[in-house]
Amino acid sequence: MTFELRQPPPPNNLPPKQPTLYLPTYLPTYLPTYIHVAVDLIVMPTVWQPHPNLDPSLIPIVQRAIDRIPPAHLEPPADGELFDIPSEAYERLQNYAFSQGFQIVIGSCGVGRRNYPCIHHKADTKNYRKLDDHASKDGSTNRKQELTKIKAKDCKWRCFISYRSLDRGAEDKTWVLGVRDQTHSHDVVVNPLSYDTHKKRQPEQAKAIELAKTNRLSKLTYRASERVLENIPKNNDQEFHLFKKQYYNLISSITRFKEEIITELLQCLDNSMFIVRIRYSYTLNDADASIQKNIEQIFLLNNYQRELSKRFISDFMMKTDATFNINALKMLLFVAVSVTNTAMTFSACFSFAISEFEETFNFFIQCMHEELFNDCLPSRIIIVDQAKELTASLPISMPEIQLQLCN
Ligand SMILES: [Zn+2]
Repeated sequence: MTFELRQPPPPNNLPPKQPTLYLPTYLPTYLPTYIHVAVDLIVMPTVWQPHPNLDPSLIPIVQRAIDRIPPAHLEPPADGELFDIPSEAYERLQNYAFSQGFQIVIGSCGVGRRNYPCIHHKADTKNYRKLDDHASKDGSTNRKQELTKIKAKDCKWRCFISYRSLDRGAEDKTWVLGVRDQTHSHDVVVNPLSYDTHKKRQPEQAKAIELAKTNRLSKLTYRASERVLENIPKNNDQEFHLFKKQYYNLISSITRFKEEIITELLQCLDNSMFIVRIRYSYTLNDADASIQKNIEQIFLLNNYQRELSKRFISDFMMKTDATFNINALKMLLFVAVSVTNTAMTFSACFSFAISEFEETFNFFIQCMHEELFNDCLPSRIIIVDQAKELTASLPISMPEIQLQLCN
């Protein structure tokens, strides 16, 4: 039995390849057992080969990212690989995709099943200008930019994991990999770092993203942040660039916008001549000193609503209710409505509130008293649903009012 050592000649401008040991895939059964065992114990390191057209200056950068990938992840995925959690499977497949010049995405998910298709899995887009698949620096193709932004290429490459027991009837379950299709409908890219997900494999890019997050939290504009990022020292001519949308999405929308939304809402109401009243809560430290002021509720109405309310709710009736899930902050919207003498419904006032507690209704009704009924009789009847916080509040906040419940 002989082992053959092959050393292919290095192509132009490329570093010599690592020698690859080719072992016979079949060992005759008549050979002694220890030879089989010895061959099984030989671990063949997977040698990553750069794309033949990859710019030589980029090879060490991609190689550096490859070196951080567990060698087993560079092997093609195989049916039956096991994972404790789906994110492990995603990482394993994404690592393989990087080594091969494509990217996977999280596709449709069901109970106990996750799909991981190629990023180009969606139906093909029209190529009216008949551009080549790849860009080239030497002008040998008619495409100027790499086609990574237009993702739809109807690619069938897909793996999936399912949560199941390995033996029929066994109770222990785990995530098991299944391979559906390993072929691409497109050429893989020359530089895998051209995909946004893989860009983060460069430590400099990860550092740039962290810095951009700090810039975003400091409320720097996109342009100002880009100027800061330009000053990051670079080892090569790689650009660390975030698109505008990526930059503004770095911080989760709730964290980012909570204060901005409230401030803009109050400014907008102020400009529109709304009457606004706000209920705050205070966070206290151990010495009972206030360290933070939180908005709990906003009450608002305009002069037109006030006139209608004085005319048609005073000494008559109104109806109140709350609406859920209508804004990014998940604040409830309380509305009081009534009807005019021509049977037209009108809204008397509004209130945004964080929660539906008794004090929420107390504040809502107190504001109505002070803003709507300060110089006229209050409403005689109120129609409400059976929210227990409201029915608890009304006998105290409006003891004279007649309560009428509805579903
Ligand atoms: Zn593909």
